[in-house]
Amino acid sequence: MTAIRRPFCTKEQLETIAKKYPTPFYLYDEKGIRDTALKVKAAFSWNKGFKEYFAVKATPNPIILAIMREYGFGFDCSSEAELMLMEAMGVPGEDIMFSSNDTAAADFAYAHRLYAQINLDDITHIKTLESVIDKLPDFISLRFNPGGAFKFANGIFGSPQDAKFGFTEDQVIEAVRYLQSKGVKRFGLHALLASATLSDDYYPTVAKFLCRLAVRLKQELSADVTLINLSGGVGIPYKPTDPANNIEVIGEKVHQVFDEILKPAGMQDVALATEMGRFMLGPYGALVTRVINLKHTYDDYVGVDACAADLMRPMLYGAYHYITVIGKEDEPKNHTYSVTGGLCENSDRFATHRPLPEVETGDLLFIHDCGAHGHAMGYNYNGKLRSAEILLREDGSTMLMRRRETPMDYFVTLDCLPIYRTLQAIYDRKLERGEH
Ligand SMILES: *Cc1c(COP(=O)(O)O)cnc(C)c1O
Repeated sequence: MTAIRRPFCTKEQLETIAKKYPTPFYLYDEKGIRDTALKVKAAFSWNKGFKEYFAVKATPNPIILAIMREYGFGFDCSSEAELMLMEAMGVPGEDIMFSSNDTAAADFAYAHRLYAQINLDDITHIKTLESVIDKLPDFISLRFNPGGAFKFANGIFGSPQDAKFGFTEDQVIEAVRYLQSKGVKRFGLHALLASATLSDDYYPTVAKFLCRLAVRLKQELSADVTLINLSGGVGIPYKPTDPANNIEVIGEKVHQVFDEILKPAGMQDVALATEMGRFMLGPYGALVTRVINLKHTYDDYVGVDACAADLMRPMLYGAYHYITVIGKEDEPKNHTYSVTGGLCENSDRFATHRPLPEVETGDLLFIHDCGAHGHAMGYNYNGKLRSAEILLREDGSTMLMRRRETPMDYFVTLDCLPIYRTLQAIYDRKLERGEH
């Protein structure tokens, strides 16, 4: 028997919300988000310059981002639209980390105009940057890829050698030498070497790579490294059997690495940054969907009103998401179902052969751990519309943060006015008939 996981809201709360906002929708737990923000701040409080730059791509909703702001967090961005969110929210450049890759020159120019801190992914991007700005900024960060296989205490966690990201060590040395000659005064080092890790040793291991490189840059080039950025990659226990990371232990272990490697080099004042997305938000968002069909053929299918267009992770990576049948948490899981959406793709499923209690049409399913890289990865295949995002406040009230898409949102980019107008008229008549 695996542990029972419980939703962050009650059946009554969920039924009330589902009466007001049709399923499927994303529901976020404000309390969980705030508690985690405090824990992260505490875990790294030993470092004077510590800042979490929340990875905007995980949950690009300005209301969620505003909560992060309350804890002094900045943001990690990688696209024009993400930078526009920053500008609209009035986030100062020192709180923006522009960690992009395969970057367009115009995006560098925009990031620079916002005074964002720029984290370069490739040595050729120095030329790109120089082509769009008059003078290089005083601070530039470089994304490091050590190559090889990435191993630490509990096994192999990825293969940076095969990843498209980052500079080789030789390129870092060459780049710093060049940037110094162009008047750049301070440097950051960044690395993201694995994803969704379940070990308290991941961050400390990345810290070792970056701290050693920082010391080398100081000794060989007298370079002033002022920022070590451990990026994202800290995972969450999606499966009930997964171990949870302990952020307090992680913080302490990174502290030890700083003491061991940076202190003897007189570099103990280097600021630490993180760019966590999943750890900050993953467990505090759920996809809530209703069972609309039960089908029994060679398998037993639970058909829901959400699909992979709402949550792509299972289709894309075979990702596991725990599912609660609301109101049946404590019933025996004596049935086995595949939980599917309505895309014309057999891979459109939230679970395959999952033990669950007996499911009936009309049941609400709470798909856990969708708060990061969930709604944000949504798309419109098969003309499916993206769901609403709702915040469950600490006081139990709800706030609509993003409405559900309408068919007209889906059609709005068509460059064909007669058809668009006809579609609008059809939609208006559907609304009159109460069909939508
Ligand atoms: C995706 C990403 C992150 C966030 O990763 P998580 O696994 O969600 O913590 C941070 N930094 C960069 C550069 C990323 O691409």
